[in-house]
Amino acid sequence: MDLGIKGKRALVCASSKGLGRGCAEALAGAGVDLVMNARGAETLEATAAEIRAAYGVDVVTVAADITTPEGRAAVLQKAQDVDILVNNAGGPPPGMWTDWDREDFIKALDANMLAPIALIKALVPGMMDRGWGRVVNITSVSVKAPIAVLGLSNSARAGLTGYVAGTARQVAGQGVTINNLLPGLHATDRMVSLDANTAAAQGITPDEARAAKEAAIPAGRYGTAQEFGATCAFMCSVHAGFMVGQNVLLDGGATNTVM
Ligand code: NAP
Repeated sequence: MDLGIKGKRALVCASSKGLGRGCAEALAGAGVDLVMNARGAETLEATAAEIRAAYGVDVVTVAADITTPEGRAAVLQKAQDVDILVNNAGGPPPGMWTDWDREDFIKALDANMLAPIALIKALVPGMMDRGWGRVVNITSVSVKAPIAVLGLSNSARAGLTGYVAGTARQVAGQGVTINNLLPGLHATDRMVSLDANTAAAQGITPDEARAAKEAAIPAGRYGTAQEFGATCAFMCSVHAGFMVGQNVLLDGGATNTVM
């Protein structure tokens, strides 16, 4: 399917690896020029070089922490006038509900709620002026079904979800859609380290830890960054103009809900 976005420009945050990279690659495959971001310059440059070589699109890189005002300012310098924004960042650490103080919540809110909102506020007005734009926020399955040890993530992402639900309806009339993409378990570096933690805690191997988690997913496996990216690219396509304020869950059926 021609996604109809060849020649457009996208900012894909936190995209040197994992789900962000999957989104960047799928957009590049559709002919979209990219501004890519991550904190670590080396991996970011290597990923950008691979994407340029594979897809022939223009790729600008900005090594910066997207959760800080300084990092966002550096990224926005290179990303003014983008047509597509994919919001992403690392997730907050796990813990118990008794562990977290005000400062922990502020950090999580900064990273997973206020950073995407700041980028939406910076870039959506230009999209509205031009009459076309797409925003996809990478959130989490935890928005639909809480993950108890990820209380900071549950809280911050729920806040972003509420903001998007209202804001998406305020900008849709100017041709701009804002939606959320909710990953369940996907095979990324983050999952490799989570499986290693589970294995250490339970005295089993990482492969055994992964197999146990995969057995609980109706699809019988983790999702891939490629599948995730392809869904993101569709949500950024000309075909998704009537999708407004939605939460699209990619979890292989793991969340047992009717809707
Ligand atoms: P990943 O494989 O660890 O990749 C994270 C990417 O984000 C890397 O490119 C990393 O590069 C970049 N990054 C992290 N923090 C950043 C920051 N502050 N500023 C700029 N770039 C940053 O992680 P992932 O699995 O793709 O997860 C992406 C998001 O989805 C996370 O918020 C995660 O909580 C959420 N999620 C993932 C899953 C899953 O199964 N994978 C499930 C639910 C939710 P640098 O480290 O160099 O900055």
